[in-house]
Amino acid sequence: MEDKKVLAGLTLKEIEEITDALKASKFRARQIHNWIYLKSASSIDEMTDLSVKFREELKQIAEVSKIKIHTKQTSVDGTIKYLLEFEDGEKAETVLMRFDNRANLTACVSSQVGCAVNCSFCATGKRGFIRNLTYKEIIEQVLTIQRDTGLKVTNVVFMGQGEPLLNLDNVLKAMEIFNENFQIGARRLTVSTSGIVPKIYELADIQMQSTLAISLHAPNHDIRSKLMKIEDKYPMPQLHKALKTYIEKTGRRITVEYLLIKDLNDTIESAKELVEYLKDLKCNINLIPYNPTAKNDYQRPSNNSIMRFKSLLEHSGKKVTVRLERGADIDAACGQLKGKVEG
Ligand code: SAH
Ligand code: SF4
Repeated sequence: MEDKKVLAGLTLKEIEEITDALKASKFRARQIHNWIYLKSASSIDEMTDLSVKFREELKQIAEVSKIKIHTKQTSVDGTIKYLLEFEDGEKAETVLMRFDNRANLTACVSSQVGCAVNCSFCATGKRGFIRNLTYKEIIEQVLTIQRDTGLKVTNVVFMGQGEPLLNLDNVLKAMEIFNENFQIGARRLTVSTSGIVPKIYELADIQMQSTLAISLHAPNHDIRSKLMKIEDKYPMPQLHKALKTYIEKTGRRITVEYLLIKDLNDTIESAKELVEYLKDLKCNINLIPYNPTAKNDYQRPSNNSIMRFKSLLEHSGKKVTVRLERGADIDAACGQLKGKVEG
């Protein structure tokens, strides 16, 4: 028998092709679309405003999803981390973060299985690149969260596993669907990149209106190339030029992410160099205290040193935040859950 069609991830037009084949009205397609994206149905049986007869017909040829939740961990702070299993058995993780403002629910999604960039501090990179996720697999991550919790995701950040700009077509298509089908505004989407310079120019050309976050993590070439091999391919001066162009063309402020590692990039000297590098870039700065993983020697700086670094940057007039640790008790830093499950 032919495989059943998966409804999750289809556009209204694609659902209409299914209802047409069943000789049902276009209104049925609209109802199914609402059940998938806004009411987070897990099964066709839940679509109670469709007649039982129509549901039976639909069930013969379609199903909601084929994604499985392999593992789920809930943190004391409410963060939920899922390891999802795709049809071919590959896995990737997705995290739901709730901040104090309960109306805001942020999904942190993966864009690839593994990652080719292989940064020295990151658990995902250690495994190398396995494959790109399709746009459907990306949006299924948000749908799975919605189905599992019954809650509506309001913000999406591409900060899970993988380098989104090395899977840009699928990421852009997923963003378009978040926008149109989930009704999540462009400004509530954030793409985080290790700095793939030619792709930053592409985003500038299409005038992306979502937030671009750049994982800078270092104030100069020597430190950055120790942390991120990508620095040798796209060194900081080239990256600076690309970011400046991006800001000019889109009119948008970017976010600079800076991982703080004890004695490596958290010194007064580093803060001064970073201020200099960022001085003509319209940006907010997000400091991320390093979350130790088992496989390297880096350490998290003391709170005093984090605060000292923060205030040195603030003197330059930029807005600086320190990323709250979410789900520390469930290893919710990038790539860590998958590492544990797969050893
Ligand atoms: N590949 C993209 C997006 C995914 S990584 C990028 O690198 O930007 C998402 C974020 O998690 C990055 O800013 C990365 O630096 C951070 N991260 C990775 N390992 C971490 C760790 N052990 N502790 C804290 N943050 C980490
Ligand atoms: Fe890839 Fe980002 Fe991890 Fe670097 S930090 S290895 S770019 S996922």
